Amino acid sequence: MVKDTKYYDILGVAPDASESQLKTAYRKGALKWHPDKNAHSPDAAEKFKDLSHAYEVLSDPQKRQIYDQYGEEGLEQGGMGGQGMDAEDLFAHFFGSGGGPFGGMFGGGGGGMRETGPKKARTISHVHKVSLEDIYRGKVSKLALQKSVICPKCDGRGGKEGAVKKCTGCDGRGMKTMMRQMGPMIQRFQTVCPDCQGEGEIIRDRDRCKQCNGKKTIIERKVLHVHVDRGVKSGHKIEFRGEGDQLPGVEPGDVVFEIEQKPHPRFQRKGDDLFYEAQIDLYTAIAGGQIHIEHLDERWLTVDIIPGECIAPNQVKMIRGQGMPSYRHHDFGNLYIQFEVKFPERITGPDGGQMTPEQVQALATVLPKDTVTGPTPPPDAMVEDFTLDDVDPTQQNRAAAAMNPEMDDDEDMHPGAERVQCASQ
Ligand SMILES: [Zn+2]
Ligand SMILES: [Zn+2]
Repeated sequence: MVKDTKYYDILGVAPDASESQLKTAYRKGALKWHPDKNAHSPDAAEKFKDLSHAYEVLSDPQKRQIYDQYGEEGLEQGGMGGQGMDAEDLFAHFFGSGGGPFGGMFGGGGGGMRETGPKKARTISHVHKVSLEDIYRGKVSKLALQKSVICPKCDGRGGKEGAVKKCTGCDGRGMKTMMRQMGPMIQRFQTVCPDCQGEGEIIRDRDRCKQCNGKKTIIERKVLHVHVDRGVKSGHKIEFRGEGDQLPGVEPGDVVFEIEQKPHPRFQRKGDDLFYEAQIDLYTAIAGGQIHIEHLDERWLTVDIIPGECIAPNQVKMIRGQGMPSYRHHDFGNLYIQFEVKFPERITGPDGGQMTPEQVQALATVLPKDTVTGPTPPPDAMVEDFTLDDVDPTQQNRAAAAMNPEMDDDEDMHPGAERVQCASQ
C-alpha cells in the first residue's frame, strides 16, 4: 500500500510497476515532453521536469521505499526532495549524452556504460638482484613465487555447481544502503551486506568447496625460469604474461622481474665497460712489473707494465675487449685500469740516514730531470735557503683547502690571484 500515487501517475504506471516498466514509461514520456520537441512551450517544460523528478525518485530503490511509505513529505524530511538531478542531466544520463539530446538516441540501445578494456589481476613485480659475475656469464635463475590460482576443484565457483547464489540482500553488490529513522529524519548509510559479508554471493556451508573453502582461488607455488642474459643491464625487465594471480572473472595478471646488478667489490660497470683500480708502487710504475686481476669468470689476467712506461698517479690504461659482453651482441666492452701509485714514505741510505750520493746518482741516470719546472730567480734576486717541514694532519686540511679553489668558499681568495700578486711585486 503506497501513501501517495502522484509520481506513479505522472509516469502513467501502476504503483507496483517493475524497474523496467518505470524505465519504459520514463523513456516514452521524456521523448514526448522534451522541450526541444515542443517548441520550448512552458507547459511541456514543466511536464518534462515533473516526469524527470518522478522517475529519479522511483528508479532509486531507497527513495522509492521512502516515497511509498511517507510520500513526498518523507523525501523532503530525509533531505532527498529538493536536491534531485537536473532534468536535462537525467535525460542525458539516461539516453547517453553523445551529440545532443536527440542526436544518437535511436542508434545504439545502451551507450551509457563504457568498459575500459578487460579487467586484469594486478602485476606481481619483483626486483631480481644479480651478481656481476652472473651477468658476465649469463644464467637462468629459478625463482619461486606464491600466486593465487583458480581453484581446480570447483573451477572458481566456490562451491558445487548451482549452489552459489547471488545475494538477494544486496543484489550481489556486497554493500547495502540501510536506513534509520531519527525523529523526523531518515538517515541513510552504506554498510557491508550482513547477509553475505560483502561477498555478494551466498553459498550454503555444506555446498562450500572443501579445497578453497569457498574463496574460489587457492595459493600455489610456482617456479619461473628467469633468463639473465649475458650483458643485461640494471633496470631491464623480464615479463611473464599471464603468469601472475588468477582471479575469477578477470584476466590473469603478469609477473615482471626487474634486473638489478649488485655492486661488485672489484669492478665498477659503466655500460659495457669495466673499471678497476690497481695499486702499484713507485718502483713498478717506473721500472715495470706485473699486476694480476681476477676477472669475472674465474680467469686471472696478468698485465705487464713495461719498464720505463712510467705510470703516473691516477693514470688510466685500457685492456681492449676485457669489459662486459654487450647485451645481445657478440662483442665486449673494455677494461679500464686506473693506477694508484704508492710512493715510498722515505728513501734512506744503507745506514738508515739520507740517501747516499751514489744512490742519487743512480736515480739521476734514469730519471729525467728536466720535467721539474718552475720559476727560477733572476740573477740579481735576493735568495734565502729553506728546507721542508712535515705538516701535521690538522694543518694539512687547511693547506689542501687553500690550494683547491673548489673547496675555497671565498671567491676573492683565489689562490691564482695571490700568485699573480706575488709575481708582480
Ligand atoms: Zn549481500
Ligand atoms: Zn574450490
